[in-house]
Amino acid sequence: CGIVGIVGKAAREAVLNGLSKLEYRGYDSAGIYLNDLQGNEYLTKAVGRIQNLKDKMKPTEQGTVGIGHTRWATHGKPTVDNAHPQFDETRRFYLVHNGVIENYQEIKNEYLSGVDFESATDTEVIVQLISKIAREEKTDALMALKKALQLIRGSYALLLVDNTQPDHIYIAKNKSPLMLGLGAGFNVIASDALSVLDQTQTFIDLQDQEVGDITPNDYRLETITGSRVEHREHVLTIDP
Ligand code: GLU
Repeated sequence: CGIVGIVGKAAREAVLNGLSKLEYRGYDSAGIYLNDLQGNEYLTKAVGRIQNLKDKMKPTEQGTVGIGHTRWATHGKPTVDNAHPQFDETRRFYLVHNGVIENYQEIKNEYLSGVDFESATDTEVIVQLISKIAREEKTDALMALKKALQLIRGSYALLLVDNTQPDHIYIAKNKSPLMLGLGAGFNVIASDALSVLDQTQTFIDLQDQEVGDITPNDYRLETITGSRVEHREHVLTIDP
């Protein structure tokens, strides 16, 4: 299972190539969300190989923001509805997640009664909770993400897109791997650096319980409780 996201650059090929390089981690289904910042967004999900996902995509489906996922099902069978990206009932937020949310049933009962769920995943609880907090507390996506993660127990590497601010990817990590790769005019996020080495060699390793707001030319990292985190860039050099 793996995650790739990119902001500020032709996203379709970059995400699909990255996902292919993460195939070694194992998966049962895959999905991608693209936003072209001109009001068009494309969500595609498929069971089985990444080739099945590619076969479902029309050539015109492109974006400069994209998030992709290979899923190793833990909660809910490998179906298209259970594949990621998962989205909230208002279809404002799209989320990919590797890991397991331990208290998803409690969150569902306590905060999300009356919400219309489309999947059987633990992951959907995260994106529905973020949406509810953003709506009811009138907070932006980063604040809603931090508040949601303060209620959630478990492991996650996740990427979130808010289609009202689509030139951002919001990220978070706890006990699942996630790297931020820095480019010129774009930034990339992935489960491992090797999968995106064709994009950049400069990386930041996210630490547990950190979140970030990533745009084409900038990034901001904080802890889930809002303390600013300093930059720790390192350059990866690998002999071909
Ligand atoms: N627990 C999530 C699910 O079953 C994510 C699995 C994964 O890490 O791919 O959908």
